[in-house]
Amino acid sequence: MEKHKKYIKRAKKLKIKDAKIINAQSIATAEWVRLKCQFGCGGYGKRLTCPPYSPAPEQTRKMLEDYKYALLIHGDEHTDIREITSIMEREIFLDGHYRAYGMGSGPCNLCSKCLKFCKYPDKARPSMEASGIDVFKTARFNGFPIEVLNSTTCKANYYGVILIE
Ligand code: SF4
Repeated sequence: MEKHKKYIKRAKKLKIKDAKIINAQSIATAEWVRLKCQFGCGGYGKRLTCPPYSPAPEQTRKMLEDYKYALLIHGDEHTDIREITSIMEREIFLDGHYRAYGMGSGPCNLCSKCLKFCKYPDKARPSMEASGIDVFKTARFNGFPIEVLNSTTCKANYYGVILIE
């Protein structure tokens, strides 16, 4: 755990608001998350990183069993979570953690349209929610703020996670 704290510093250098090393088992998955993508998000089926193409909750749940530690990153409307997740995944991988894998927030915004195959597979990652993660439960359990936004003036909180080892 201690040896991973350098990743918090690095994420903050990339202008993340806050970050924590968390227990990977505190990342919650739930079946309802995918339904929220399917019935509630205009991005459903439009991105190769979104449902129905992204990992279902059950697959994510099983995959999480392979990890002990993760870096949870917290940003706001000015933070490019997708980009920072991809940079941090690569750096953590090159630091020797060969299983490093990141999940960002929201639909991929790298191209205006997805074709049959992803144009940037090195950078595009499914979001936490597209992978069936209950972001509210995970953020709150780890002491981060997140609320339902009931007005356009409310400030949003965005999260990404990089599984380390
Ligand atoms: S990188 Fe482009 S092709 Fe790949 S998921 Fe993102 S938008 Fe789609």
